[in-house]
Amino acid sequence: MKMIDIITGKRNGNRHTFDEINFLIKGVTNGTIPDYQISAWLMATYFNGMDIDETSMLTDAMAKSGDILDLSRIGEFVVDKHSTGGVGDKTTLILIPLLAAAGIPVAKLSGRGLGHTGGTIDKLESIPGFKTSLELDEFLSQVKNIGAAIASQTAHLAPADGKLYALRDVTATIESIPLIAASVVSKKIAAGANVIVLDVKCGNGAFMKTLTEAQKLSNTMVEIGKRLNKSISAVITSMEQPLGKAVGNSLEVIESIQTLKNQGPDDLTELTLTLGAVSLIKLNMAKNIQDGKEILGRYLKDGSAYNKFKEIVKEQGGDIRAIENVDYLPAAKYKVEVKSDESGYISSLDALGIAKACKLLGAGREKKGDTVDYSVGIVLNKKVGDKAQKEEILAIIHANSRDLIAEAVNMVKKAYTFAETTPKELDLVYEIIM
Ligand code: URA
Repeated sequence: MKMIDIITGKRNGNRHTFDEINFLIKGVTNGTIPDYQISAWLMATYFNGMDIDETSMLTDAMAKSGDILDLSRIGEFVVDKHSTGGVGDKTTLILIPLLAAAGIPVAKLSGRGLGHTGGTIDKLESIPGFKTSLELDEFLSQVKNIGAAIASQTAHLAPADGKLYALRDVTATIESIPLIAASVVSKKIAAGANVIVLDVKCGNGAFMKTLTEAQKLSNTMVEIGKRLNKSISAVITSMEQPLGKAVGNSLEVIESIQTLKNQGPDDLTELTLTLGAVSLIKLNMAKNIQDGKEILGRYLKDGSAYNKFKEIVKEQGGDIRAIENVDYLPAAKYKVEVKSDESGYISSLDALGIAKACKLLGAGREKKGDTVDYSVGIVLNKKVGDKAQKEEILAIIHANSRDLIAEAVNMVKKAYTFAETTPKELDLVYEIIM
């Protein structure tokens, strides 16, 4: 078999066979296929797509390209959650302790931020001392002992995805439904959980810009789950504006702590409870979404989710003082108010624009390996539907470099659009596919 024939087949719109996909993924994993041929294949796939049989075979081959964790010693059912990437999306930080507080074991492997989207691992690393790189044994023991652990994805799990994702990032081939589906689901299968809840972000701050695309991606991933014997659910959620109010690593940790104390923004609390409710339904612990949200809401109200988060932080070497008193978290030197130039209702708030402003301040990375400034970011004071008077504060920029402030202020201002009348309320959850 030759790679040139596989590329030619996809370029001509043909279906790949099982053998072709296995040849390709083996070659990607062991480095025998050069990057230029993989890149050409990625672009052919971007344009000509894959059907569900090919996508399932690709997912399976990618999952098997490395180790597959055996979580059976933790319990019969272990839950995992994954988001396709958004702005201000810190639900993992809240959902993992929340589920663990409800007695559901969660073994969560997360990534770092890349592109405009933030990563859970960077957020957690803003907590002084927090160790995200755990040995497999440590990781499993922690889930067994305290019900949850959040660690960085190891290179041994789905290594083919690591390679393909890095090439997709630099060849403009990220936004392909079969490639995203295979990337997300292969990692989840390799991570070993059997109940998987996917948060599929949809909107201008997400890879899937329209509901139709998000539905297609969700249906593809749920169907792959059926074929590969995993319970996969997809929740399609809005990424038209940032989630919650805080964007930036330590700022998002602060907002997560508030939410764990049941004092967080409504959208963030609601989304976290919805994702948790889906897990509960899958485990026959709730009758429906409302029931699941009520059950989990109790663990936010009685402090047990917050206490579980502290337990996780302590277990992973983090400084508990930074959770009890957020003044111990990294803080930026300058806090600059962005004031409104006009009066009116906020009709839209460009998530991508806010993400780009945060990246300019140093909260994200241009490329893999870049360092991240944990303390910088933006806290939004006004969101879609809110009324703002001229000169009222729209947002607060947290910066460490004076030179970047003027540009960041402009970017934040540009992200806001105003209308004279109250705009239509934005949906938070569009659809749940179970
Ligand atoms: N998240 C992933 O893990 N993979 C993708 O391809 C896109 C989002």
